Amino acid sequence: MQTFSCRCGNPLFFENTHCLGCRSEVGWCPTCANIVALETLPKGGYRCTHPGCATDLMKCHNYAFANVCNRMVVMNDGHADTLCDCCRYNAVIPDLAIEGNRARWAALEAAKRRLFHTLDVLGLPHGTHGDAIRVPLSFSFMADALPDQGLWRSTASQEKVYTGHANGHITINVKEADDVERERLRVDMNESHRTLIGHFRHEIGHYYWDLLVKARDEEACRRVFGDHHHPSYAEALEHYYQQGAPADWSIHFISAYAAMHPWEDFAETFAFYLDMVAVLDTAMHMGLSRAEYDGSLDGMLQAFHQVGMAVNELNRDMGLLDLAPGVMAPAVRDKLAYLHELIRNAPRSLEG
Ligand SMILES: [Zn+2]
Ligand SMILES: [Zn+2]
Ligand SMILES: [Zn+2]
Ligand SMILES: [Zn+2]
Repeated sequence: MQTFSCRCGNPLFFENTHCLGCRSEVGWCPTCANIVALETLPKGGYRCTHPGCATDLMKCHNYAFANVCNRMVVMNDGHADTLCDCCRYNAVIPDLAIEGNRARWAALEAAKRRLFHTLDVLGLPHGTHGDAIRVPLSFSFMADALPDQGLWRSTASQEKVYTGHANGHITINVKEADDVERERLRVDMNESHRTLIGHFRHEIGHYYWDLLVKARDEEACRRVFGDHHHPSYAEALEHYYQQGAPADWSIHFISAYAAMHPWEDFAETFAFYLDMVAVLDTAMHMGLSRAEYDGSLDGMLQAFHQVGMAVNELNRDMGLLDLAPGVMAPAVRDKLAYLHELIRNAPRSLEG
């Protein structure tokens, strides 16, 4: 992610709603694609202060009324779409009557905005209901149903909300936005990383399988990731939760969970690819010359290794988790090569 600049000269960051220098309200202008200081207009609304832009804007409904967004929408004759280009993908939002949910929702939206930014860096197509896209994308942020006050009732399994993807609809359990809860799950499930943005990157991997691979490139995908129909997903899931990943998973997979089924392998590898793109994009904007590469996958892997090793050492200095794996298995590189081509050749729009 790049940093931006306020009219006062102070740096602005992707998540900002105010400038810490001049206290101006700031927001994302969709016209010039910048975080900008907002000038209040006498007629209501705001004007983008980015030099040469001056678009009249309104706050996204979720910015104005819930403060979980920092995006603006373009004002036309005083009217505007009420939701920004990220919030318009929401199908279900957290119940704000529950304490803590506004903060959880804000964390979810911040991760979602970063996700869309990376998709746009890559030029990947996406759209929601009403857009001309073969598989409309949408998000639901839901909590487990809580048991009633009555002591007789417990939370049945069907009331549990699983994070997952089905036909373009991504569900994220809002408890993933709780740091303590998420870290507990990470340790329980023996994962090297479990982050909110990581969930979005994994689930969007399933979305792009549906959009770009299903009935379009399944044969080539099968050759790289294995047969997604044998064993069935349900069989693979049961086997994984009984036996876990094979001991030698790291020779073949980016993560232990990827060993479960070719669809999970695809999503895990896709998430790792997005991790690399996001990290290298940020490192490049921060002026790290090690992050520059020629556009090839091997150039990208080399640059990510260089940046990753430096950040791993910085993290170890601070007692934090490693950012990048030390070694990349050849089998994982082949899967990334498939994704690299799939993403580079993806059409900008995919209609019905
Ligand atoms: Zn400022
Ligand atoms: Zn602008
Ligand atoms: Zn919004
Ligand atoms: Zn998955």
